[in-house]
Amino acid sequence: MARILALANQKGGVAKTTSAVNLAAALVESGQRVLLVDLDAQACATFCLGWDPEDLELGAMDVLRGAAIAEVILKTADGVDLLPARIDLAGADQLLATRSGREFVVRDALAAVANDYDWIVIDCSPSLGIITINALAAADDVIIPLQCETLSHRGVGQLMETITDVKRLINPRLRVLGILPTLYDGRTAHAKAVLNDLGPRYKVEVLAPITRSIRFAEAPAVGRSILATSPKSKGAVEYRALAKVILRKN
Ligand code: ADP
Ligand code: MG
Repeated sequence: MARILALANQKGGVAKTTSAVNLAAALVESGQRVLLVDLDAQACATFCLGWDPEDLELGAMDVLRGAAIAEVILKTADGVDLLPARIDLAGADQLLATRSGREFVVRDALAAVANDYDWIVIDCSPSLGIITINALAAADDVIIPLQCETLSHRGVGQLMETITDVKRLINPRLRVLGILPTLYDGRTAHAKAVLNDLGPRYKVEVLAPITRSIRFAEAPAVGRSILATSPKSKGAVEYRALAKVILRKN
């Protein structure tokens, strides 16, 4: 049975997608069978893995409407399987709002392929809407990517409260694997101060930071992870190390 890992933070630009894509690729490198689920209508993960969302006939929204998930999953050059998103996913919260059992639509859809993978990595949208609650309801683990700047803290308290509610009400097995500091610049005292404050403030594990690097801007243009475009770069090494930590925790 696949273990389901969600990357969630309702703030945009904190490297949820970058982390989902590169972590998924790193897990594949470690011999794991991985499905990446793109739950953001902006479809950046889909794009980053080499598929143009505008060329696709089917996406995650069709699965929410009842299409067989196996028929929507795509292969990617990084060896990660992909449940792609298209822009129509923007209507997901509205679609789900009136449905009974609306928190469990993603969980139930993923159950059909859970035996085909070791890991299912979910890239969440920048919202705390029903589609993100679905991701948290399906997940065993959640990682919270967070940029090391004071303003990035805004909203994390609310996210933690949402996670606590999800655990209490709909998914008791959900575990916060940790905060993942991203876009980290260890040369600045400010970034270091923010990093050191995270553990005491949120009382959760703080994972090893991912360093800011231009390599991350280059990779999506060719539709590959940076493990493929820049295999020896610091970022690739750091996401491989993160994959090892996650494997060790299971
Ligand atoms: P989110 O999914 O949270 O909105 P993204 O993963 O799309 O965030 O990242 C936002 C931007 O930051 C993207 O342009 C991405 O290429 C860039 N980025 C992510 N991680 C890094 C990093 N470690 N160094 C430099 N740029 C990064
Ligand atoms: Mg994103």
